[in-house]
Amino acid sequence: MRNPATGPRVLLKRLRDVMAKSLGPQQRLDLIVQSIAANMVAEVCSVYVLRADNVLELFATEGLNPDAVHQSSLKFGQGLVGRIAATARPINIADAKEHPSFAYLPETGEEHYSSFLGVPMLRSGRSLGVLVVQNKASRTYQEEEVEALETSAMIIAELIAAGEMEGLNKRGIGLDLSKSVRLKGVPLSDGIGSGQVLLHEPRVVVTNLFNEDADYEIERLRSALSELRVSIDDMLSRGDVSKDGEHRDVLEAYRMFANDRGWVRRMEEAIFNGLTAEAAVEKVQNDNSARLMRQPSAFIRERLHDFDDLARRLLRQLMGKPQPDAGLGIPKNAIVVARNMGAAELLDYDRDCLRALVLEEASPTSHVVIVARALGIAVVGQAIGVVSLAENSDSIVVDGDEGVIYLRPPADVAAAYAEKEGFRQTQLAHYAELRDVAAVSRDGVEVDLMLNVGLAADLPQLSETGAKGIGLFRTELQFMVSSTLPRLDEQQAFYHNVLEEAGSKPVIFRTLDIGGDKVLPYMQQIPEENPALGWRAIRLALDRVGLMRVQLRALLRAARGRELSIMLPMVTEVREVVRVRAMIEKEQKLLAGFGHELPTNVRLGAMIEVPALFWQMDELMEAVDFVSIGTNDLFQFMTASDRGNSQMANRYDTLSRPFLRALRNVVEAGKRNNIHVNLCGEIAGRPLAAMGLIAIGYRSLSMSPSAIGPVKSMLLALDVEKLSKTVLQQLQEPSTGQTMRELLTDFADEYGIPY
Ligand code: PEP
Ligand code: MG
Repeated sequence: MRNPATGPRVLLKRLRDVMAKSLGPQQRLDLIVQSIAANMVAEVCSVYVLRADNVLELFATEGLNPDAVHQSSLKFGQGLVGRIAATARPINIADAKEHPSFAYLPETGEEHYSSFLGVPMLRSGRSLGVLVVQNKASRTYQEEEVEALETSAMIIAELIAAGEMEGLNKRGIGLDLSKSVRLKGVPLSDGIGSGQVLLHEPRVVVTNLFNEDADYEIERLRSALSELRVSIDDMLSRGDVSKDGEHRDVLEAYRMFANDRGWVRRMEEAIFNGLTAEAAVEKVQNDNSARLMRQPSAFIRERLHDFDDLARRLLRQLMGKPQPDAGLGIPKNAIVVARNMGAAELLDYDRDCLRALVLEEASPTSHVVIVARALGIAVVGQAIGVVSLAENSDSIVVDGDEGVIYLRPPADVAAAYAEKEGFRQTQLAHYAELRDVAAVSRDGVEVDLMLNVGLAADLPQLSETGAKGIGLFRTELQFMVSSTLPRLDEQQAFYHNVLEEAGSKPVIFRTLDIGGDKVLPYMQQIPEENPALGWRAIRLALDRVGLMRVQLRALLRAARGRELSIMLPMVTEVREVVRVRAMIEKEQKLLAGFGHELPTNVRLGAMIEVPALFWQMDELMEAVDFVSIGTNDLFQFMTASDRGNSQMANRYDTLSRPFLRALRNVVEAGKRNNIHVNLCGEIAGRPLAAMGLIAIGYRSLSMSPSAIGPVKSMLLALDVEKLSKTVLQQLQEPSTGQTMRELLTDFADEYGIPY
């Protein structure tokens, strides 16, 4: 039976009056605990708030000794209160002293009280503190009372999150919400970024907590839910969601949750108790998050994300904001924090303001990571929990080299990074000065320094870095950031723009390197056991000739009246090149037949990424106009070590003798066959490795834009002939002695070469 004089609705009405009054924070908190105690006919009501030092401090009490306020405290996990905070679960018992976790605090005088009900004050599933009621008589509190106390706890949690409680706590110790946190993730893209948190999916702030009319709010909730269900059904029936696959699974999970009776019932209950529809969604979601975060099963925790997404959608529906506000009001030094996101979403942010990216999920091969790397943005992934710990505008430092983030960093950490950043800026200024300096070694050896790019946003880098041209244009990036397959005219316009921007500088377009780990959302994927060794790149293109033909046609049309260079990824046998050349010739004839202007010359090249090519090198060079070595793939296949597996990273040395010997073979074959040899794997952009490559004969290296300055700086200080002699001679020696890396490092140190 609900008591009309007390009960949750009456309590919420009282709390609403307290919130509406103009009061100081302590006064407001005191009035809140008095109101709760009166309403619940409890002799005691106390609020404990979690501090940055992991201690729960008594912030207000009705019934306990008032002198204990801001004096009495418990460690996180200690006593009943500490346990509630640690587990984010209520405790409801008739005799507190009987509970094994009971801790007696003499200064509060609480030994007189038997029954105890404590609930966590939750925000995004995290405990910010604990709210407790106690009675002398031994009793168990009813479900309705637990619900009322939880709702009150949510209101206090909102006050804490709004910063109202700062300054009340013991001097010098901040609240848990504002403490610095160091999180270890996985480095996904180099660089350091410091700035302000920008949550990719900002929390919807519920400002209107208390309802005037429960029936009206229930109606609002029901209609928002039915709109939500319709929108999910719409998404599921749309053609762009494949019959199965992860995307569909997630939507199916949404549909299941949106129809979950228990979820809806709990929200309706919260409305009945006095909350608005949106506050009810938030309250129930808080409880869900706390519950699911405790689950040991990764699968179930994953479902938490789905549930979170759904609740957020529902809130937006209720508050009339159907779309997330990503990209709006971006700070000048934004660090985007997200659970995960699509590559296209990253491109919606203003590049000039973006300093770094932090993701809870994502792996080195995620599309968003590939794009971030292409844009030169530092990324840390697998930063578990960062989304619930971070608030918009929090200060943050992201170390993409080490895979570490510092949320609200302490002053010394921030200062150390500011110094590092300053040093980097000085270096960048130095590299900018080198822009127009010719890439020639001390002894007059010229090396072509080219760019690896793939997005329109990268093109200005061509003039900013002073690179000689584009050695690798990854055409798949345009496909990966698009939500539908780019049409012929779109591809053509895109390539034309690239060529226009490049002006007289050469551009090498690599045909689509998709399949394997580079998945296009709109193309059905066939599950493969070993995707890196599977149906990808040129293999897929030769089976799906329609796709390849459209791309070739777009390239030929885009390059009308100028030279066109096309490069094929993952070539395994010469026949593949021959087939593509025949396709190009056929396309040219067709275009000419329709009166289209053709390129002045078409050069066809192959990437050397598959070891089998080493035993058909001369034949290959007969069939192509140039080659480019993709050491990222070549190294993974030669050493049988997955390039995306962090356990394998740095296990084998890319400067080891066997690998350098193989690379030397290609240079020699190029000389023998008069074929231009370029190298476009990641190692080309590392100054020490580039030094080794130049020593074994490479005169064309292609790298990410940020590497041009450091590599040029190294080259300007290098005596190529002197190094070559030593390196080529040492290359013949057994691998057991000094490593080639040591040799190169010693040489650089001895001659003061920056690396
Ligand atoms: C490579 O494999 O070295 C390469 C440049 O291609 P990608 O990194 O795009 O596979
Ligand atoms: Mg490759």
